[in-house]
Amino acid sequence: MEIGFMKTILIANWKMHYGPMKAGGWIRAFRRERLPKDLDIVVAVPHVSLAAARASLGRASIPALAAQDSFWTADGAYTGEISPAMLLEFGVQYSLVGHSERRIYLGETDEMVAKKAAALQAAGIAPVICVGENEAQYKKGEMAKVLKAQVTAAIANLKPDGKSAMIFAYEPVWAIGTGKACPPQAAKEAHEVIRSAIQKKFNSNVAEHTRVIYGGSVDANNINEYVTTTGVNGALVGGASLDPRAFALLCRTANPA
Ligand code: PEP
Repeated sequence: MEIGFMKTILIANWKMHYGPMKAGGWIRAFRRERLPKDLDIVVAVPHVSLAAARASLGRASIPALAAQDSFWTADGAYTGEISPAMLLEFGVQYSLVGHSERRIYLGETDEMVAKKAAALQAAGIAPVICVGENEAQYKKGEMAKVLKAQVTAAIANLKPDGKSAMIFAYEPVWAIGTGKACPPQAAKEAHEVIRSAIQKKFNSNVAEHTRVIYGGSVDANNINEYVTTTGVNGALVGGASLDPRAFALLCRTANPA
């Protein structure tokens, strides 16, 4: 399968760090750094910090804003949830869906992930769908089986194209926050599995033009190995995005131009 040209995307995932008091400082410090132009740079902030991040950005569009999760209806009796329509009020362009921490700690299922992804896309927000095998599945050689099932379920109600095109993040659970990054060649194989599930549901053109990014212990020292690997269109970065200067360095390393 030929992979079409797609701009590399780097997404910072703060996870449950930085409330509104600190979010603006991160954005301002990051924007003072030299930032490469040929990348899509995104920051996924906690819901409560979206307003502060937006205020610090003003009209600036770098980094773009992402949410870390979103519910599947526009409004209703769903105490504690946040809808895509609400996220749009902050100019959110992307939202993570099905991060393994949500699947593990909050029992998020493939069915919920599919409903969330479809609702985001319908609202005009690009879903960044996180998939990946856990350590036991990895050791049993079940990476492809797990990814195929997760991807197939997640795209059940998605449309292949449009402004809010889906993005997949391959995040092997055993590589997240462990310092044990998945070797780029193994990530490449996993990305091929993801693309072939997309191809089966849609067609090869959609599979070739869907961005698939890698996440799991990425930092400024290893980012280059990923973004230069065929079929890897960027990275989702947790721990190494918490320091705005370190994340800016990671962005420059990924795109030295
Ligand atoms: C993540 O949580 O999405 C992630 C990739 O974390 P880390 O970079 O810390 O492994």
